[in-house]
Amino acid sequence: MTDPHLDGNALAGPLREIFAVDVTAATSRCAACGLSGAVAALHVYPNAPGMVARCPGCEEVVLRMVRTPDAAWLDLRGAVSLRIPM
Ligand SMILES: [Zn+2]
Repeated sequence: MTDPHLDGNALAGPLREIFAVDVTAATSRCAACGLSGAVAALHVYPNAPGMVARCPGCEEVVLRMVRTPDAAWLDLRGAVSLRIPM
């Protein structure tokens, strides 16, 4: 990917609207390459349709989030799991 990206901390505000915990502190596991790491370490492309977070290891999409006026769409199919510290 040659587009400039932000780190996963850019997801903190939008995800806080959905989850009561800070999901950027969670550990995600990439479905494509198996890399585990903090959601905050994902490469976030904020100017895609919505926000697209890609794996820093293989650049596959791990998470997509689209916000509309009355709903939030969260696509986690690129993550095998999301470990949220409690
Ligand atoms: Zn990966």
